[in-house]
Amino acid sequence: LIHAGRRVARIVGAVIVLSMGRPAIAYLKYGVEIDGRAVTVRWSGLPVRYHVTDRGAANVTADQFASALARAFSSWANVATASIEYQAAGFTGALPGQDDGLSTLGFLTEPDMDNVLASTSYLIDASTGELLEADIFFNSAFDWSTAAAGEPGRFDVEAIALHEIGHLNGLGHSLLGETEVTSTGRRVTANAAVMFPIAFAAGDIQNRALHADDVAGVSDLYRMGDFDERTGSLSGRVTKNGRGVFGAHVVAFNLATGALIAGFTLTPEGRFTIGGLTPGPHVVRVEPLDDAEIESFFDVDDDVDIEFRPAFHPRLIVVPDGGDSGSVPIAVVPR
Ligand SMILES: [Zn+2]
Repeated sequence: LIHAGRRVARIVGAVIVLSMGRPAIAYLKYGVEIDGRAVTVRWSGLPVRYHVTDRGAANVTADQFASALARAFSSWANVATASIEYQAAGFTGALPGQDDGLSTLGFLTEPDMDNVLASTSYLIDASTGELLEADIFFNSAFDWSTAAAGEPGRFDVEAIALHEIGHLNGLGHSLLGETEVTSTGRRVTANAAVMFPIAFAAGDIQNRALHADDVAGVSDLYRMGDFDERTGSLSGRVTKNGRGVFGAHVVAFNLATGALIAGFTLTPEGRFTIGGLTPGPHVVRVEPLDDAEIESFFDVDDDVDIEFRPAFHPRLIVVPDGGDSGSVPIAVVPR
């Protein structure tokens, strides 16, 4: 998770060397391409066992750190529609970032990474996409807090951990946030996804709670039995001057529940699919990726188009139980 600008998840390639920038399958999930085939990155052996490095940081003891992490893990484990589970395996002398087979969360002091608050790295089985190890480092070059109400000027361990554990689950970023550009950089003014790549300001604790978009993502990855029957999907194609738009952000707003769930167009033809939606009528909006850095979502050499005006589909789109909306065409105009 970044403080004001750049990138977030890095991959440690001991088992594989694959680009992870592109969400090859769907909006919220990390995917890798293996022999030209898109494979979802996820844990298969549950619960996920994790270790906590036995050292704290200024103002945060190792025990306080472990307790805040446990609360963040609980928030994901408590998603009623997802089967993900975790098991705290206790303290370790190991550090995050070591390829030792242990999933380890801990502080490291990385003053050169001056806008990276925390980062998640993975080991992945290259043949299956199965996650073997995920480490999360918290940058103790920043000031941290575990206080119940947060502390001014200090980043909240639980809130930042909730975002990084989303990556540990196999989720990529969501663009459901709004920022404004100030003299000191981008500032987040609101979000509707913990997986938005830019953190709220120090002291803010809003990101201790998951949003509908996060819940849909983790439920899609770790499906409970009747997920496919109880939810539906919305798919379509975004075009500009008759040609497909790659990397357009598509947001589905459920009129009945108020949930915002989003995805991206991921083919040169501009096709998108947003899964895990509560059935019912949705408002559909398309917007360019301009509230965060493109590299937080896509590879630098991907041809993401941000030169168009946001647009609403002129009609409500009904997402059916256990099915798809049918292809929804959305034309945007250059800006
Ligand atoms: Zn992130």
